[in-house]
Amino acid sequence: MDLGIEGRRAIVCGAGKGLGKGCALALASEGVKVTLVARTAETLESARREIQSLSKAEVSIVVADVTSDSGRDAIMSACPQPDILVNNAGGPPPGDFRDWGQKEWFDAINSNMFSSIDMIRRTVDGMAERGFGRIVNITSTSVKMPMPGLGLSNGARAGLTGWVAGVAREFVRQNVTINNLLPGLFDTDRGSGYLAYMARCEGADVEQYIERYFAESPAGRFGTCEEFGAACAFLCGALSGYMSGQNILLDGGKFPGTF
Ligand code: NAP
Repeated sequence: MDLGIEGRRAIVCGAGKGLGKGCALALASEGVKVTLVARTAETLESARREIQSLSKAEVSIVVADVTSDSGRDAIMSACPQPDILVNNAGGPPPGDFRDWGQKEWFDAINSNMFSSIDMIRRTVDGMAERGFGRIVNITSTSVKMPMPGLGLSNGARAGLTGWVAGVAREFVRQNVTINNLLPGLFDTDRGSGYLAYMARCEGADVEQYIERYFAESPAGRFGTCEEFGAACAFLCGALSGYMSGQNILLDGGKFPGTF
């Protein structure tokens, strides 16, 4: 399927590996010029090489921390007029809420709420002036179904979700959409790390815990970064301009509700 976005420019944050890299590859496969962002130069360069080898699109990198003002300045200098923005940063550590004070909460809010809001602030008016924009925030299934041990994520991402719900409506008329993709469990370091953490909390063997977890889940497996990237690219497509302010679950059917 041709999504009609060949030649568009995208910033993909948190793209050295995992879900962000999956999004970058799917966009590059559609001919989008992608700027990959992460903090570790080696993994980022290796992601660039891999994506470049699988697509004909231009692929560039910015080694930057998206949770800092200076990092966001560097990203915007490298790609000042993006048509597509994928917001993503690492998830906060799991743990017990009794151990979290102001620093832990402010770090989580900075990483998983404010950074995305600030990247949208820096890009959305330009997109509206140019008459095309697609913004996708990688959040988590935890905003719909809080995950045990992930209180920092459950809370900070819910804040971003509430803000996006309001602002998304302001820009649809200019063909700029803002949507959230909510991953369930995906086959990434973060996804397997979470299951290992839950196994440790129960004193269980990690492999046995994972087997049991998936035996009880509808899909019976992790989601793949390729599946995640394809959903992201769809939201960024030329014909996705009538879909905004949505929270799209990608969880293999795990969320048990009707809606
Ligand atoms: P991952 O495999 O750990 O990859 C995260 C990527 O983001 C890495 O390339 C990392 O590179 C980069 N990154 C992290 N912090 C950054 C920062 N401050 N600035 C720039 N880049 C940064 O994680 P993932 O599984 O792809 O998850 C992506 C997001 O989805 C996370 O917020 C995660 O919590 C959330 N999520 C994931 C799952 C899942 O099952 N995988 C489920 C629910 C939610 P550097 O470390 O080099 O910067």
